[in-house]
Amino acid sequence: MTSETYAFEPPKQASLAIKGSDARFPIRRIFCVGRNYEAHAIEMGKDPSREAPFFFTKPADAALDTPCTVPYPPLTENLHYEIELIIAIGKGGAIIAVEDVMDHVWGASVGIDLTRRDLQNEAKTMGRPWDWGKAFDNSAPIAPIVPLADVPSVESARIWLAVNGETKQDADLADLIWSVREHVSILSRAMKLAPGDIIMTGTPAGVGAIVAGDVVTGGVDGIGTLEVTIGPRA
Ligand code: MN
Repeated sequence: MTSETYAFEPPKQASLAIKGSDARFPIRRIFCVGRNYEAHAIEMGKDPSREAPFFFTKPADAALDTPCTVPYPPLTENLHYEIELIIAIGKGGAIIAVEDVMDHVWGASVGIDLTRRDLQNEAKTMGRPWDWGKAFDNSAPIAPIVPLADVPSVESARIWLAVNGETKQDADLADLIWSVREHVSILSRAMKLAPGDIIMTGTPAGVGAIVAGDVVTGGVDGIGTLEVTIGPRA
């Protein structure tokens, strides 16, 4: 066994808390599903028909434990919340069959796909990548990961988000256009999934802007809740 030497101290392993454990879930990559609820596709001005799902990514170290304070990010005047079911992969694999997907899932949680909507819209208009709209620092606050044995369902449960106590998003996982089994299977045909990969599975309708001082709460029934405070601009 060889030991590597590095020119400087390597970055710290990105990770998330695990509910009921002192161990942490090490993150390899964060995949996100675009437009996976019909009503959200419509509110974004898109055809909600069952076109193939598409994906984008965030860096692993965009993930933050919750509760937390996220500084209002730079370059935007239109920061949006998107509440999402989180799927955590524990066993890697490529070309995973729909019926085998849950054998690869370590657990589930709930998180927010924070979005610089103005930069995302500009990228769409200009035909540019979405990264500046989606993959910025602190853009993925996530509740502690719940081991799969303690997850009642990833198929059907209320998913909701409130800003300063006012409900903004309220839907059910059953409304997913592409279910967890389906979209993880499809993702595994594009990339070989690895332990530590996380999937943000898409947001229901009701997205909107948040500003410094707002307190965002959300959850998926039976899986978890989170609270994120928006701080002053970084
Ligand atoms: Mn999203």
